[in-house]
Amino acid sequence: MNKYMILVVEDDAAVRNLITTTLETQEYKHLTASTGKEAITESVSYKPDIVLLDLGLPDMDGIDVIRKIRTWSAMPIIVISARSDDTDKIDALDAGADDYLTKPFSVQELLARLRVTQRRLIAMQGLLPAQESQFKNGELTIDYAAGCVYLSGTEIHLTPIEYKLLCLLAKNIGKVLTHNYITKEIWGCSWDSDVASLRVFMATLRKKIEPPGTSVQYIQTHIGIGYRMLKV
Ligand code: CA
Repeated sequence: MNKYMILVVEDDAAVRNLITTTLETQEYKHLTASTGKEAITESVSYKPDIVLLDLGLPDMDGIDVIRKIRTWSAMPIIVISARSDDTDKIDALDAGADDYLTKPFSVQELLARLRVTQRRLIAMQGLLPAQESQFKNGELTIDYAAGCVYLSGTEIHLTPIEYKLLCLLAKNIGKVLTHNYITKEIWGCSWDSDVASLRVFMATLRKKIEPPGTSVQYIQTHIGIGYRMLKV
């Protein structure tokens, strides 16, 4: 039995069957999903080794599935799509896809691409830290796959920028991140005016995760330098 588990995301039953039958010839283990939502849930629950992803899904665009998975995992994603424009390929690769196959595809080519991806996986083993779908620090939990944040088990509502800030600090827990680094990561640039808005967003974020009355401090301000998430 091949040790790799492949998640096949495809809403067209005929194409899905063609792919799973192809995988079975090489004894790959596989899971299937026919919607974007299912794809995200299964990639969280089963942590497949490789995802084969169609872009035209009934409930959401495959590009958004890639973005969602990339918030918490580096698992290889190979797009298999009928969209053959360069811009579609570029969008998918920029969103975090590893490879792109245009429909109709040859099964031999699909298997070759899988072998390339497997070689990359083997080369990467030990170089990447384990990817977690959840972050926990004291009473604070971030569910990366669902995009939800909980404090003592209760969901708290963050704006998209507050959420990005929190994830950035969480992924670098213990490290001081400079104003410049944060504004570049969040807004893609680092003007002085962004440092002022960063201060505002950080203040509202802190009010939400460090409500009055709690003694726990998750975010530490380094005046004139930046911010750091403390391990509590
Ligand atoms: Ca489709």
